[in-house]
Parts: sequence; structure tokens; C-alpha cells
Amino acid sequence: MLLEVNHLTTAYNGLIAISDISLGVSEGEIVVVAGANGAGKSTLLKSIARMEKPNAGTVSFDGTRLDDLAAHLVPAKGLAYVPENRRLFPRLSVADNLRLGSYLHRAKADRESPLQQVFDLFPRLKERLSQRAETLSGGEQQMLAIGRALMTRPRLLMLDEPSQGIMPKLVDEIFRAVRTIRDSGVTVLLVEQRLVESLEIADRAYVLQTGRVILSGPAAEIRANPDVRRAYLGM
Ligand code: ATP
Repeated sequence: MLLEVNHLTTAYNGLIAISDISLGVSEGEIVVVAGANGAGKSTLLKSIARMEKPNAGTVSFDGTRLDDLAAHLVPAKGLAYVPENRRLFPRLSVADNLRLGSYLHRAKADRESPLQQVFDLFPRLKERLSQRAETLSGGEQQMLAIGRALMTRPRLLMLDEPSQGIMPKLVDEIFRAVRTIRDSGVTVLLVEQRLVESLEIADRAYVLQTGRVILSGPAAEIRANPDVRRAYLGM
């Protein structure tokens, strides 16, 4: 397993947001964590990325425990995280936002090689390099946030609801891009409310409800599960 989460529990002021969550992501997989609002999906990603400090449990990445690592040191381990609010630098240009993503790499070649990949994935960004990030549409901002994360040349990309607040046409583009990113060798952990689209691209899925894993398995199996169809797919 590239990422291994064991019995992770995180609380905010004593209120438990995720409880005893265990999950794994193998190299080359797209794994989806699905669940309704407030199920704990964002807390799970924040806890893995060390933005929140778990109360119990462990996180290992490529066999190394992350438990005592400061959040700002996580990207250098090969783990990129795109949070729900994207955290772009609004006043900076698209080009500068991307450039800031490559801060981990000293060699110019290492900084520039992922740029081409980002442009191939999202040609819209290339057309808007000098535009300030705050003037991009929601979908374009999401593309920029993903692009910036790819500039760190991660082994694992964690995405928190990339489809949120985005017009349908760009949602499809982003889901397609996630698959292309995986095909390029980057493992993906995707948190989503849009279960139908995410199960289409995922290998495996975990379903969270009130902070616990209530179901997990291959994406096709989750899709066929009668409870899931009733609760999430409206069937
Ligand atoms: P959404 O899709 O709405 O973002 P989610 O599945 O990502 O939902 P979380 O954001 O992880 O869920 O929230 C899980 C629980 O933790 C919720 O009850 C939420 O109110 C609570 N919570 C999240 N962040 C905080 C915080 N910073 N302080 C206190 N409680 C929080």
C-alpha cells in the first residue's frame, strides 16, 4: 500500500468528526471516499495531510509514518493535497501560482517538466497564464489548484470535492483529467459527493457516514449495492 490509514479518529473540541477509520490506497489506484455533507470526508483528508491533528490512529505513506510530521513538510514526501477551498493566491497570475507549486524542486528542468503535463491536461490554463487567479471561473480555479499540486510532482494526489461549485461541462473535464493523471502514474485519493461520476473513474471506494466507514470495496461492487443505489444514486 502506498497510503495506509489505521484506526484514525479526529475530533474538534471533543466532538468526533471521524472515528476509527482504516483505509488503504495502492500505487496506481483511484480510490474514492464518498459520503453526504458532514460525513467527515474533508476531516479525513486534512488528518492525512496533517492539517488537523488526529486524536488516535496512524497514517503511513510509502511505509513511513507521517504522525509526527508538520503539515508544511508533507508535500516533500510526495503527497499533494488540494483542499476544498483551493487556497490559490488570488492576486497572483496563473503562471505564478503554478510556479509556486514547483518550489520543492531546485533544478529548472524539474520545475518545467510538469508544466507541460498541466497544459496538456488543462489547455485553458495555458491560454490564461497572465490572468490573475481570482478572475478565473470556479472550474478554472479548480484546474489551477490541481495543476499547482501536480507541479510538486507528487506520488499521491488527494482531491477534496473538485466538482464543487463548478458548471457541469467543466466537471466532466475534471473527472477526465483525474483519470489521465492516474494513467500518468500518480495515485489518486478523491473525496466526492458526486458518487455516480466518481465511481465511474474509481477502482475502489469507501462510503462514510457520520464519521465512520459503512461500506468499502471495488467501485463496481459499490455501484451495484442496493443500499447505495437507493441512498445515493436515487434508484
Ligand atoms: P462537506 O462535504 O460538507 O465538506 P465533509 O464530509 O467533508 O462535509 P467534514 O467537513 O469533515 O465533512 O465535517 C465533519 C464534521 O466535523 C461535521 O460535523 C463538521 O461540522 C465538523 N467540523 C469540521 N471542521 C470543523 C472545525 N474546524 N471545527 C469544528 N467542527 C468541525
